[in-house]
Amino acid sequence: MNEDHLRPQLPEDGIKQKSVDQRAPLPGDPKCVICSRYGEYICDETDDDICSLECKQRLLRRLEAIPVSDECFYVRDDDDDAQLLRSRIEIDVKGGTVPPPALSFDSFGLPSMLRLNLETAGYRIPTPIQMQAIPAALTGKNLLVSASTGSGKTVSFLVPIVSRCASFRSEHPSVPKGLLAIVLTPTRELCIQVEEQAKMLGKGLPFKTALVVGGDPMSRQLYRIQQGVELIIATPGRLIDLLTKHDIELDHVTMFVLDEVDCLLQRGFRDQVMQIFRALSQPQVLLYSATISKEVEKVAASLSKDMIEVSVGEPNRPSKAVRQLTIWVETKRKKQKLFEILRSQNHYKPPAVVYVSSRIGADLLAEAITTVTGIRALSIHGEKLMKDRRDLMGLFLSGEVPVLVSTGILGRGVDLLGVRQVIVFDMPDTIEEYIHQIGRASRIGEEGTAILFVNEENRNLFPDLVAILKSYGAPIPRELSNFASMKGRNKKRRFGH
Ligand code: AMP
Repeated sequence: MNEDHLRPQLPEDGIKQKSVDQRAPLPGDPKCVICSRYGEYICDETDDDICSLECKQRLLRRLEAIPVSDECFYVRDDDDDAQLLRSRIEIDVKGGTVPPPALSFDSFGLPSMLRLNLETAGYRIPTPIQMQAIPAALTGKNLLVSASTGSGKTVSFLVPIVSRCASFRSEHPSVPKGLLAIVLTPTRELCIQVEEQAKMLGKGLPFKTALVVGGDPMSRQLYRIQQGVELIIATPGRLIDLLTKHDIELDHVTMFVLDEVDCLLQRGFRDQVMQIFRALSQPQVLLYSATISKEVEKVAASLSKDMIEVSVGEPNRPSKAVRQLTIWVETKRKKQKLFEILRSQNHYKPPAVVYVSSRIGADLLAEAITTVTGIRALSIHGEKLMKDRRDLMGLFLSGEVPVLVSTGILGRGVDLLGVRQVIVFDMPDTIEEYIHQIGRASRIGEEGTAILFVNEENRNLFPDLVAILKSYGAPIPRELSNFASMKGRNKKRRFGH
């Protein structure tokens, strides 16, 4: 049902009810500090420009969520104070010493232009991971950082990179312009997003970026690098390709970031990542992910002997802000169930992402959604051309297409602004992937929902899944708990001596 008539009348060029209804800003227009659409000054509490009542609510919730005293409070370099603050913001540091967390961007000693760019982006207060990871990374130490999805990880490694690159340029004017840092991520989409944020933070500073991903012509990427860029953001395969075919100066690369490190160290990527690492001369290594396994810890230790672990909240756990609803549904009834959800005013909360396990499945399901429910749906997966992927992400993020059916490529790291609903149609192969996928439903602690379809075919993951659902107090379907307890009994029989 169209609910437009229920909305209060809002002026055409003014504040909207919802962020997706607002237009893009024209050059020189004020921008919403939350979503960067056209904004106006309506928030007396913060003096910020805001596009819609929805974003105003978000801004106010965000400020309430982080308890900060009015004065700019800098923790003294005192172990007890630092520990107290760490426990208050649920930060844990292991394996070495790092500076205490700081509750304000002003405390990091950043270049003033970077400070201004953070403010312009609407980042008024660092998130907990930024409070600790930024000062730690600025000391040059190697870090293995885990924090839940959507917690502000990208900014926490980009701020030290931009700051270091800008300072290097002013301190070494005679060194020819060239590469100083590399960020690797597993997908093109994530690279694009990281580059957007890097550009925004580096505006007005001697800091240029290049995107090195498959799908775009390499000649253009190479040309840009040859003009002199400080940061390359790349997927491993394309970067190796570029480095083997062309002579790129790597001597001054002092920062190497692996975003979604657990994925980058899996078979397929690991050799490429190690090959790139070996070509560098002992850079600072920053490893990031929401899920860190023992295996990752081992490889991290092999990259550096003095790796310090920084974690926020409980690692390897879904964001608390995502409400999980698990539905037991047989495979042949899944489509029907999905259509029911999308037709239900109570359950469908667009924009929504539906995760499936195969490319062809994504195409077919998107088509079926549009045909059966009349809701516009598109599919995204690795076989689509880069340009098409960009275009359809644009349609989705602007609100024109409310449902996106995706394979795992949008499961990690990608910031799907505005998305508060994720439907896991096909349970992925690992519980870690599930955590990443449902994490798309929440950014910076804002609430979202994840609906998960399970049946007997997913039984390998039942013990982990039940443990997660239990610990969050999320409802567990009867069939799932029956299965899990049967498994438990079988185990006892097998090992019961
Ligand atoms: P990430 O975990 O890097 O995907 O970031 C999640 C979202 O938080 C992105 O939309 C960022 O733009 C946003 N963000 C990052 N840092 C801050 C901050 N300090 N204040 C408000 N929003 C932030």
